[in-house]
Parts: sequence; structure tokens; C-alpha cells
Amino acid sequence: MGGSYAGLVAARVLSDHAEEVVVIEPDTIGENGLGRRTPQRRQLHALLSMGHRRLEHWFPGLTDELLKGGARLGEGEDVRFYVDGRLKAPVAESRMLGATRPFLESRLRRRVELLGAVSFVRAEVTDLILRGERVAGVVITTADDGDGDTTTGEELTADLVVDATGRSSRLGEWLNRHGWDAAPVDRMRIDLGYATASFRRGSELGGTVIAHSSPGPASDYRADVTEPGALAAVEGDRWSVVLAGYADHRPGPDPDEFLRRMRRCVEPIRTVAEESTMTDDVVTYRFVESRRRVHSRLRRFPGGLVVVGDVLASVNPVYGQGLILAALEADALATYLRAGPRPQAPALGYFRLAETAVDAAWQLSTAADLAQPHVTGPYPRGYRAQKWVADRLTEASVRDSPSTPPICAW
Ligand SMILES: Cc1cc2nc3c(=O)[nH]c(=O)nc-3n(C[C@H](O)[C@H](O)[C@H](O)COP(=O)(O)OP(=O)(O)OC[C@H]3O[C@@H](n4cnc5c(N)ncnc54)[C@H](O)[C@@H]3O)c2cc1C
Repeated sequence: MGGSYAGLVAARVLSDHAEEVVVIEPDTIGENGLGRRTPQRRQLHALLSMGHRRLEHWFPGLTDELLKGGARLGEGEDVRFYVDGRLKAPVAESRMLGATRPFLESRLRRRVELLGAVSFVRAEVTDLILRGERVAGVVITTADDGDGDTTTGEELTADLVVDATGRSSRLGEWLNRHGWDAAPVDRMRIDLGYATASFRRGSELGGTVIAHSSPGPASDYRADVTEPGALAAVEGDRWSVVLAGYADHRPGPDPDEFLRRMRRCVEPIRTVAEESTMTDDVVTYRFVESRRRVHSRLRRFPGGLVVVGDVLASVNPVYGQGLILAALEADALATYLRAGPRPQAPALGYFRLAETAVDAAWQLSTAADLAQPHVTGPYPRGYRAQKWVADRLTEASVRDSPSTPPICAW
């Protein structure tokens, strides 16, 4: 259910284990199809080192394909991280892919379409089919292809159903309808605003540059002279620039305001504001809360059902964790399936593995967000000690290059 990033990577894993994998996706997704249900596709998406490595593992040669299509790969000193306006020590093995999300996803989808076992159905899932203690399939309504023709209530049976329908998944509602509890949800309200704009790319910065600038520990955005933001060289000879801000400091859609804020960012972003031309409208996005659904806290869960991607966890996007998590959950699914479970049994082993990855991303993002003055909790146990360590690590990262690439950093 869902043929976006997490659904596509999960389909790749399932194709090693199933005779037939059906991806159900109602939206047209591709370079020109942005997907009505996934507005974040229009925001700059950074694919950090770990996510890039895992993607290349599942789709060997995909990076070369993307580069041939105009994407850029930032390596070593081309990938610049800043904290409080200070450039961090370079990470020699650092790699970051510069591509827009629709471009990345269209190439990913093309690779999945070439897998013999996988087919796509343009439809929306409207319910689960439950038989006894397990999910045995889904109910779909096929999408209208412009001729007003849809079919409702069609049933598709399956041994294993994967929910990859994103943040607004209706899984909880469907489970309740059939007498099962939905997974408890952890939330942290962060009230984040995002805005992305594209610029024509020339020789302003002399090559592939990918720059991320974040506020330092406990700094207040309003008092901080350096605005947080990120910039990446992407396909189509463009720069993609994103600005972020919390609460009343959310960036708006006004291009002049966007340029003014860019001029208060770190040097590469300032240079693009001064020397390049904005080519499109500024697109904004509001992200109210981070949330995760914790299945291991349930006493019973139906068999034949797993959950991946933003359905499982969707954390503050400034930390670039979403695409990494989708890939690590695909790894968890592969490990689980390789152990030879009955796919119709409750996938407790999968949830244990996937939640380990989610725990790390949740801890990283919520601990950093709690340093924002407007974020009021909930505070985890041991928060002060965690924060002390995280602040020391951030300071050290300005001076010392780590010997291995960081898993996540913004
Ligand atoms: C503003 C913003 C910026 C971000 N930036 C980054 C970044 O820089 N780096 C990073 O790693 N992550 C980033 N993320 C996170 C990333 O966007 C998500 O983690 C990622 O989209 C998750 O993919 P997904 O496939 O789980 O869900 P989605 O991409 O939301 O896709 C869900 C899919 O399910 C389909 N669907 C919905 N309902 C149904 C249904 N009933 N039946 C069938 N299909 C259905 C939808 O059409 C959609 O295609 C960002 C997020 C936001 C909000």
C-alpha cells in the first residue's frame, strides 16, 4: 500500500521473497507527477551518506543512472556542514546526492518496474481484509484515469501486506474497524516551517556543493544571525535551496523575503542569492509534529502486516532521517524475511529490528528539538545527560574530522 519512496524500496526487498508483489498507488509519481498526497516532494530532500549507501545496495548502479540524468554527487569537502555559521571539519568519505525528490523517485520507480515480480496498480486502499488473526489482503478503489471510470470494493488477497501510505496512513482506523488496537503514537510538537526555491546554476560556486547549516545547541532562531538552511546542486543545472524556521519564524512564500533570508545564511547560500536567478515560485510546507507509532507496545497485532516509512515514524525533516529510515526498515524487512518466518504470522521480529532504527532517529531529532525554546516536551528520561553529550559532540565536530562518515548530520 503506497508506491512512494518507502513502498518502492520495500517492493525491491519483497521481490527477493515473493512470487508476486503488487504496489498499490493512486497518484501518478514521476518527474512531472508530484503526487497530491505527498506535498513534501516539492521540498529539497537531502539523501545523506547512510541512506545513499543503502539505496545503492538495493539498486546497484542507480547513482550512475542519476548522475547521467544530471544529478550531482557531493563528495568530501564538497559536502559542507555548518553549525551556528561555523564550518564543521570535513568528513573525507562523506557523500551526498543532489537530486530533486521527483527525479530520484522517478528513477527508483523505473528500476522497480523492471523487477520481474513487481506490478503496479493505480488505486487507493480503502480497507484491510482480516481473516481470523491475520490480514489476508486489501480492498481497493481504482483511480480515475480521466474517463470517470473507477471500481470500488475490489478485493486483492495477499500473504503479506505492507503499509507504506505515509504520515496520514489510515491503518489505525482500519484496524479498529476490525476489532484490533492501533499502535500507540508518540508525538512531539515542533511547529516547523519549510520553504524551497530553485535557482539557475552556473559557475558561482565552482562545482558540486551541498551545504547544510543548522543552529547550534539551544540557540534561538530569532537571535541567531545565521539563518538555518540548505543548498544542493541538483539535476537540470539548478540549485535547490531550502530555508527552515520554527513557530513565528517560519519562512513564507514571498520571493523577496526568501532572498533576504538567504543573504543571512552561510556563504554558499548567500552567493546563490546574490548571483543566481530564482526560476520558480517559493513552495512552503508546515510540519507540525514529529510522530512515531510504537507497535512493540501492543499486546496483540494481526499477522501478515508490516509497516514502513513515515507510517512508522516521521521526524523533524531538518535532520534528513526519513529516507534513511525507509532504507533501514527495508533492511529490517529483508533480515526478517531471510529468517524464513510464515508471512501470515505477526511480524514481531520485523518490528523489533525496525524500531531499533527508529529509536535512534527519534532520539536524535527529539533531543535536538527540545533545545528549541518553543518545544515543551515530552522530555525523555536522562535528557540532561544526553544533551550534555550531544552538545560536546557537536562542538567537537567543528574541530575534528570523524574517521568514518557520520550516519546523520544536519
Ligand atoms: C518538508 C519535508 C522535507 C523533508 N526532507 C527530507 C530530507 O531532506 N531527507 C530525508 O531523508 N527525508 C526528508 N523528509 C522525509 C521524507 O519526505 C519522508 O520520510 C518520506 O517521504 C517517507 O516516504 P513514505 O514512502 O513513507 O511516505 P510518502 O512519501 O508520504 O508516500 C506515501 C505514499 O502512499 C500513497 N498513499 C496514501 N494513501 C494511500 C492509500 N490509501 N492507498 C494507496 N496508497 C496510498 C501516497 O499517494 C504516497 O505516494 C522530508 C519531509 C518533509 C515533510
